[in-house]
Amino acid sequence: MILNCQSPVMKVTFLGTNGWYDSVTGNTVSALISAQDFDIILDAGNGIAKADRFISQDKPVFLFISHSHLDHTEGLHTLVKFRFRKGLTICGQVGITNDLAGLLREPYTVPLERVPFAVTVIELADGVHELPFKVTSLPLIHPVPCRGFRFEIDGKVITYCTDTGFCENAVSLAKDADLLITECGLKPGESSPDWPHLNPEDAIRIAKSAGAKRLALTHFGAEVYRTTEERRDLLAKFGPVCPKLVVAEDGMTVSL
Ligand SMILES: [Zn+2]
Ligand SMILES: [Zn+2]
Repeated sequence: MILNCQSPVMKVTFLGTNGWYDSVTGNTVSALISAQDFDIILDAGNGIAKADRFISQDKPVFLFISHSHLDHTEGLHTLVKFRFRKGLTICGQVGITNDLAGLLREPYTVPLERVPFAVTVIELADGVHELPFKVTSLPLIHPVPCRGFRFEIDGKVITYCTDTGFCENAVSLAKDADLLITECGLKPGESSPDWPHLNPEDAIRIAKSAGAKRLALTHFGAEVYRTTEERRDLLAKFGPVCPKLVVAEDGMTVSL
C-alpha cells in the first residue's frame, strides 16, 4: 500500500476578475478557495453566481467580503440560487451586518433570512481569528473601509488584498504566502492618488517585500483593461521579474 503523505491539493478558482463592472473580459470580482473541508469564497461580485460550477455545496461555505462597494457585493442577490447544505458563514469587517441588511432587502432582492440555507454573519475585528481555520484581517487603503485577509489552511497560506494602494498591511498579510491575490486596477506606470489602486509594479512590490511565493492579479479595471489580450500582455512584460505570475481570467484555476 502506498501512503500519500502530501498535503491535499488546494485550488483557487477565479469566478470574476473585473473591477467596477462586467464586460467582455469577465464578471465583477469573486474567487473560490477549495480546501479539504471548506469552500471559501472571496468577495461577491457577479462572478459568485458561477460558484456552483466548481463546488458540490456539501461542505460548509465561508464568504469573506473585503468591503461593501458594489463590485464586491452586487452578486449577493444571486445567493438564493444556491443550496449550501452545510450553511453559509459571511465574514466581514465590523459593520458588515448593517451593510448587508441595507443591501439585501425587499423590494430589491431576497433578504438573507429567506435564502434556502442557513446563514451566519460574523463581524471580524482587525487581527487574528481562529474560525475553523486561521484568518487574519487588516485594513487596506481605500476611500471606504476595506480589509485584506490572510488564510492559513491545509498547510498553505493564501492572502487576498483588494481594493488598495500599496501599504504595509498588505505586505504583512502576504508574509511568506504560498499565493498572494491582489487587485490590478491600473495599467503599468499608472497611479491614482485620489482613489488608490494597484498597478502591476506595486502588486509585484508587495509580493516581493513579503516573500510571497506566487502572485495572482485579478480585479482588473473594466475601463482600463478592455480586452483579455491587454491583461495577457502583463505576462510577457512582468513574467521575467515575477516568476509564476498569474494573470487571472474568469474560470481559471490555480493549484497550490
Ligand atoms: Zn473594487
Ligand atoms: Zn472598492
